[in-house]
Amino acid sequence: MACASQHQQSVASTVNESELIINGKLFTTFYQQHAAEYKALCFQAYTLAKVRLDQILEQPSTLPLAIITDIDETILDNSPYAAHRSLRGKDYEPVSWREWVAKSQCDTLAGALSFFKYAHGKGVEIFYITNRNEDEREGTLRDLTQYGFPNADKEHLILRQSVSSKESRRQSIAASHHIILLIGDNLADFSDLFDKKSSVERSQAVTQLAAEFGKRFIVIPNPVYGDWEGAIFNYNHKFTPAQKDSVIRKSLKGY
Ligand SMILES: [Mg+2]
Repeated sequence: MACASQHQQSVASTVNESELIINGKLFTTFYQQHAAEYKALCFQAYTLAKVRLDQILEQPSTLPLAIITDIDETILDNSPYAAHRSLRGKDYEPVSWREWVAKSQCDTLAGALSFFKYAHGKGVEIFYITNRNEDEREGTLRDLTQYGFPNADKEHLILRQSVSSKESRRQSIAASHHIILLIGDNLADFSDLFDKKSSVERSQAVTQLAAEFGKRFIVIPNPVYGDWEGAIFNYNHKFTPAQKDSVIRKSLKGY
């Protein structure tokens, strides 16, 4: 019994069940910052985007061409924010996020800047559709302009207004442009089929749209956050860390 008790204490000391999310984000943020594989995946995505762009440019279009891109974890790297929070035992929350954005200290993701400069040089307009809020416009524009991202202006930076869904914002661009590529780290950056859907529905929609990935949709990896995480918890922001732990542990397939 003594042995069993010691074993249980040992397990309890290494697994704090209320910190799975925080420790998980610490580790995935470490991956984002230090795994060369992450950098390679970003290059891979933007290389594929360029291949597709060159193919599409060979076809005539009556409308001006546009690429729609997300910003966070698609062209800008916010991993220092995630690290800052995780190291303090905290997750994302709006006030500290706005403080981070106001600093304009984001780095760019590998391959992003050169791709957008190339596309713009070919006459393609770049539209930035982000769920950053209106009060984050100044810091966001500073981020984009300090690196020289093309079309970094009021018309092309489309922030979140009343709804988080990006569909109506995509449609407004589609009214006057031929949208040739969409780039993002979150499936809702591509289609409203993913808006506020469950994990099972998201997976089914990915299968339904499988042919679009690598063709018109270019996905950037983000292991730290996204709707994939919200979907696990049914988009319930009132879940406690312990409840989140429980849901995650029950969802995992083991053997
Ligand atoms: Mg994003």
